Amino acid sequence: MGGCCSKRINPANLDDKIKDAKIIFVVGGPGSGKGTQCEKVVAKYGYTHLSSGDLLRAEVASGSARGKELQATMQRGELVPLDTVLDMIKDAMIAKADVSKGYLIDGYPREVKQGEEFEKKIGAPALLLYVDAKSETMVKRLLKRGETSGRTDDNEETIKKRLDLYYKATEPVIAFYESRGIVRKIDSELQVDEVFKQVCQAIDNLK
Ligand code: ADP
Ligand code: MG
Repeated sequence: MGGCCSKRINPANLDDKIKDAKIIFVVGGPGSGKGTQCEKVVAKYGYTHLSSGDLLRAEVASGSARGKELQATMQRGELVPLDTVLDMIKDAMIAKADVSKGYLIDGYPREVKQGEEFEKKIGAPALLLYVDAKSETMVKRLLKRGETSGRTDDNEETIKKRLDLYYKATEPVIAFYESRGIVRKIDSELQVDEVFKQVCQAIDNLK
């Protein structure tokens, strides 16, 4: 995650810096197209993309003891402990605080509680992009992705559990933020570029 610990910024200053950057939550089922769209947002808007799943997988790849525990949890299609994910996201945000125009927080919050904790420790989102696709579409895309992704959770059994958990735990997140008027629903059944047009509209309206 770049940078040396000796360069660690004083958390008080950091909070100021992050406060000025726009925070966008990107929420949607597994395989809905969050990562695909975030990549395009990074290219066009220079936002920092932080995928909670990618951060966790990097920890697994490091071979640490914590990584081994995380790997087992993810392989079961379950959620890893809240504090672990939040600390990782916060550290990654700190690392980019000087250069970031905004943050795409991809795959987080997975449950309402995660959103509440994020706001307590970091800040409030300006926008929630709700990347919506049918469950059949998500399954199809994930199985295809699984052919090359090397992701141990892109298999039929784990996909089913991830989808169940998504509907149960994550959809309430959308309702939670809807009451604040910051949710923009994106139809992710369309072609990537058509989906991206909707994403751009939502982001452009932020300014
Ligand atoms: P997520 O990050 O939400 O799990 P990804 O962005 O990794 O989803 O997308 C899952 C798979 O679906 C990828 O293989 C990606 O190439 C494909 N995909 C994403 N968006 C679309 C789309 N709009 N149309 C067709 N395939 C897509
Ligand atoms: Mg992803």
